[in-house]
Amino acid sequence: MTEEQKLIRIDQLRKEKNAVILAHNYQIAPIQDVADYVGDSLGLARMAQKTDKDIIVFCGVYFMAETAKILNPGKTILIPDPDAGCSLVDSITLTDVQKWKAENPGAVTVGYVNSSAEIKSELDYCCTSGNAAQIVASIPAETPILFLPDMFLGMYVKRKTGRKNMQIWAGECHVHAAIDLKKINKAVAAHPGADLMVHPECGCSTTCMLHAAEGDITAPTYIYSTEKMVNHAMASANDDFLIATEVGILHRLKKEAPGKTFFPVSESAVCEYMKMITVDKLIDSLEKEIHPVEVDENIRQKALLSIERMIAVG
Ligand code: SF4
Repeated sequence: MTEEQKLIRIDQLRKEKNAVILAHNYQIAPIQDVADYVGDSLGLARMAQKTDKDIIVFCGVYFMAETAKILNPGKTILIPDPDAGCSLVDSITLTDVQKWKAENPGAVTVGYVNSSAEIKSELDYCCTSGNAAQIVASIPAETPILFLPDMFLGMYVKRKTGRKNMQIWAGECHVHAAIDLKKINKAVAAHPGADLMVHPECGCSTTCMLHAAEGDITAPTYIYSTEKMVNHAMASANDDFLIATEVGILHRLKKEAPGKTFFPVSESAVCEYMKMITVDKLIDSLEKEIHPVEVDENIRQKALLSIERMIAVG
């Protein structure tokens, strides 16, 4: 099939199967272009709640599709490649969490949304990078906290809240290494005057959030959702913007804010798990209705509690 025939086939299948295609901001451009909605992981999970379609094809990594399933147990959610994992998710196992909790009775467990359904079922609170500090601050000061799995997000939260009784799991996303301080400073020097924008979606950007909080970055730094990035770029007198996040997000920014120029802090900030979803796999999954995302009901209910607590805090 030519690329054009593939797009026609996706449209046919979407209508025949009464399906909706949701794509994460870090997906390859052809997937973003064919999707009905492109967004961050919680935005996609919420979109999955709103839809009246029979099938949701979730183009993202597995834990994100699982989160959508936890929030939407009655819906069929397909992932075009179930091997699309996440190095941050893999940095902690269920046994690790259970052991850590047993060693720290009375501690409250807070975990980044970048974790598996099994891990979420062991958490008291789930959090995103955007609300992690707020969630930690809402826990009584005398209560010890176990924070997992992203050490950079944990250090950022510790710095923001001044919390002393908080242990941090030493997990990391391998993509963050492409956005280290040296690369940030090099990019800032190459584009003097450009605003630096960080999308707080994944472990790839949490090192940058930490450096910004520590005052290590000289350029004006903004931690924004995609929508806020677009609004800021459109309203700003500046024409140039540096983006310190996985490079997939640049496709959307360029589409939504034409006339402005976006530069990645690092071209090599690429999550290969995100790029495992291809147009061919999308067609295959929808055509054959394969790779449904399933979560054990007991695990789902416990995981849902931690997500609902997060939503209640804000
Ligand atoms: S960018 Fe990092 S944290 Fe995000 S999905 Fe990829 S490996 Fe996981």
